[in-house]
Amino acid sequence: MNGLGRWFRRFMEGRYGNDKLNNAILGAAMFFVVLTLFIPNPLVDLIAHGIAYVLMFRVIFRTFSRNTYQRYQENRKYLQFFGRMKDRDHRYYDCPKCRQMVRVPRGKGKIAITCPRCHEKFVRKS
Ligand SMILES: [Zn+2]
Repeated sequence: MNGLGRWFRRFMEGRYGNDKLNNAILGAAMFFVVLTLFIPNPLVDLIAHGIAYVLMFRVIFRTFSRNTYQRYQENRKYLQFFGRMKDRDHRYYDCPKCRQMVRVPRGKGKIAITCPRCHEKFVRKS
């Protein structure tokens, strides 16, 4: 490995790196840049590029962040959110007592749910 590669590897030690959330933010930034190509308006240009810069800065910040736990949690929440949106067969509830996420089948009417962690019982519409 050459000197620069070695330097970069040492530089990235203990830092977070890339993840799916970063890719999504980058995609959103690209969307705003491409948007300006289709809407030739100075104000749109200014706002869209402003947003794109903020988003790209966020990606850079997350990649080089040393707070890997926090970054990991952000990514986990992002994946969870879109996982829930895609899941048409289930509904997701948080246990009112311990906040454990409980998944139940959709469309069964009112059902009594027992939390698998703390065994708290609560009724929700599925
Ligand atoms: Zn619970």
